[in-house]
Amino acid sequence: MEVDVTRLGHRIAELSAIGGTGPAITRLGLSREEQAARELVGGWLTARGASVRRDAAANLVARFGGDGPAILVGSHLDSVPEGGRFDGALGVLCAVEAIDALLDDGVRFRRPIEVIAWSDEEGARFGIGLFGSCAAFGRLPENAAARADRDGMTIADALRSLGESGDPTRARRADAAVSAYLELHIEQGPRLERAGVPLAVVSAIVGIFHGRVTVRGRQDHAGATVMGERKDALVAAAEMVVAVERIARAVPDAVGTVGELVPKPGAKNVIPGEVSFSLDIRAPREDDLERILRELRAEMRRIGDARGVTSSVDVLARVPVAPLDLPLRELLLRSVKAVGVEAPLLVSGAGHDAQNPQLAGIPTGMIFVRSTGGSHTPIEWCDVADAALGAEALAGALRELAA
Ligand SMILES: [Zn+2]
Repeated sequence: MEVDVTRLGHRIAELSAIGGTGPAITRLGLSREEQAARELVGGWLTARGASVRRDAAANLVARFGGDGPAILVGSHLDSVPEGGRFDGALGVLCAVEAIDALLDDGVRFRRPIEVIAWSDEEGARFGIGLFGSCAAFGRLPENAAARADRDGMTIADALRSLGESGDPTRARRADAAVSAYLELHIEQGPRLERAGVPLAVVSAIVGIFHGRVTVRGRQDHAGATVMGERKDALVAAAEMVVAVERIARAVPDAVGTVGELVPKPGAKNVIPGEVSFSLDIRAPREDDLERILRELRAEMRRIGDARGVTSSVDVLARVPVAPLDLPLRELLLRSVKAVGVEAPLLVSGAGHDAQNPQLAGIPTGMIFVRSTGGSHTPIEWCDVADAALGAEALAGALRELAA
């Protein structure tokens, strides 16, 4: 069995034309462009005999085979504004290529397979990341359909404009209808490039803590207040930001980021009385994540006491760690080895649709393909030869699961 590198390359180019201007792709979730991408992919799969439908969350579902629980394989087709060609799209294209290769080889599926393109994974438009897979696995936030984009269009409106009912919770699948989920995705980071290896198998998707810290000091005159008498909220916040870096750095595979910081009132001759900053902490083990948060809270108290300021943390989101399925990990390591790659195990620091089925108890496995140039940028890149290796490994795993 062999995948067709030329076919895969052509399809990457064809899909990239939808929402593409030069190397940049803008294919927002639940937009006309995302719909056009689904139609293109759905057409390829219809031609191979799949029964193709969209569900109530605008996920594309292309089913091969009859009744019974299905093996799902796919990723997403939406992008961030001015994103790249490969994030998400490559996982769908490689799933299609894997199916094509198996069918070209005369393989018959004894268990049903569904190629899936999840809608609005990025959440760039409505603020709900992993939207389509959250809907399918019962993990949507309350009242998700009422969330609006910048123009005031709600998710319900957007779904209706695509021909759906407007209620994405109807996309909920019975867990028993799905026996496994596989996803291929570009790595989006430098580890495989550094190691000189084209593929990896993902061991876990990190848990995420999103919070907002508010530091309260005393607003005062920048000239008249002597240095010993200040309760400067910004200097305290600055020490806390450095503590985030130090504490996260001490834990393997953990990361901590402060990406937003707002001093108030925000004038050059006023000592800041209040500062709020964002907190993004990620780790591949729950106890590590909890330990980082504990240490950070203790450190913030210590800094606050020393500087006469107080601080509080609002929790905005807490996504649990998704350790991926062990038997599927072994299967993917075998199928990657069969295409000649000794794949390392990597933790995913980014969230992926794959975490939703895994958190719903469905065995889930993931392959990373080497990518360069970062991600969520037009210079994100993946070699078609690497992608083809990934598709071939995916096909090997699907053959073992379904044939
Ligand atoms: Zn993605």
